[in-house]
Amino acid sequence: MDQNRVVEGRMVNPSGLAELIEDADVMEATEIEDADRECPECGGDVLEVGYMPSVSEFVTGYKCQDCGWSETDRE
Ligand SMILES: [Zn+2]
Repeated sequence: MDQNRVVEGRMVNPSGLAELIEDADVMEATEIEDADRECPECGGDVLEVGYMPSVSEFVTGYKCQDCGWSETDRE
């Protein structure tokens, strides 16, 4: 089931959002959620999505809905 959200003016599904954060294809992504934080660059709303960039890795990524800012919980 796709759950589309608007990010930087484009509709994205969870995999699409994860790919924007990762700048690469991802294997699987969880539901998009609203992160309880503001974008440090523009103050916009931040979305959160969990995804697997590879079989052995699970990352939580964050992406601003309004600008290009993103980050992950990778150490
Ligand atoms: Zn922003």
